[in-house]
Amino acid sequence: MKKINVMVLSALLLVLLVGCGKKDHPGEHADGKVHIVATNSILADMVNEVGKDHVLVHSIVPVGTDPHEYEPLPEDVAKSSDADIIFYNGLNLETGGNGWFTKLMETSHKKSEEDYFAVSVGVEPQYLTSKGQESEQDPHAWLDIANGLIYIENITKTLVAKDPEHQADYEKNAKEYSAKLTELNDNSKDKFSKLPKDKALLVTSEGAFKYFSKAYGLEAAYIWEINTENQGTPDQMKHIIDKIDSTNVASLFVETSVDPRSMESVSKATSIPIYKKIFTDSLAKTGEVGDTYLDMMAYNLEIIYDGLNK
Ligand SMILES: [Zn+2]
Repeated sequence: MKKINVMVLSALLLVLLVGCGKKDHPGEHADGKVHIVATNSILADMVNEVGKDHVLVHSIVPVGTDPHEYEPLPEDVAKSSDADIIFYNGLNLETGGNGWFTKLMETSHKKSEEDYFAVSVGVEPQYLTSKGQESEQDPHAWLDIANGLIYIENITKTLVAKDPEHQADYEKNAKEYSAKLTELNDNSKDKFSKLPKDKALLVTSEGAFKYFSKAYGLEAAYIWEINTENQGTPDQMKHIIDKIDSTNVASLFVETSVDPRSMESVSKATSIPIYKKIFTDSLAKTGEVGDTYLDMMAYNLEIIYDGLNK
């Protein structure tokens, strides 16, 4: 009797395993593609560059919107439940603040490292320094292209593991894509190394440029450290204005995904113009300058150099 029970149980378990395996296997969708959800437009673009025709990518946080705080829509839950792979940035981008991503994954019954993957694994983290946040990691690693290359490596590894049939394509796409980014990175480092030291201060609203500034030899200054904290308080305003007044900086910058009013006040108080908008947490709308990661980084690097070198 005991033996039969064990056999029945084993048979049941096998049915369950086979059933689950089939459901989770990419390419089982009617369109034959690997269905992927990425938390924001930057990651979605990287996945499209590596996956090309083999993937169908849904980006959760809309273009031009802050990915730190987000309320997932019913559509995001449906797409996440259906997805073969979910990519998120990690380093506290989506899990700081209201922790929206963790909740979304719970609602969608997805598991870490099985269904959803942080693309920033292997990046050397920088840390937030504002009061009470010393131990929290700064999420904005992608603004240093060297880290973007790590993201692409991680994305490629996961695609190959989930869809080994197309390994050669994924690896070829990643290699070509990475070569373009590496060329941009090398040229930019050359250029920035010639910028006079007393002009090498990058002032933005959010302190999103720690990784960027370290990579390209600048000092980063900002009004607030991260979008999940209060923005433009009197203390923050006084601090940044004093900082700017002690340098020869020629231009200020404002990000496309923040409210520009605080930086406009700083510009008024210091008589230093806002040079242009730059990209941090989102790509531009499709068809506009900065609508891919490569283009966004090329644009940022050019505009920041030109603004500081005035
Ligand atoms: Zn940010």
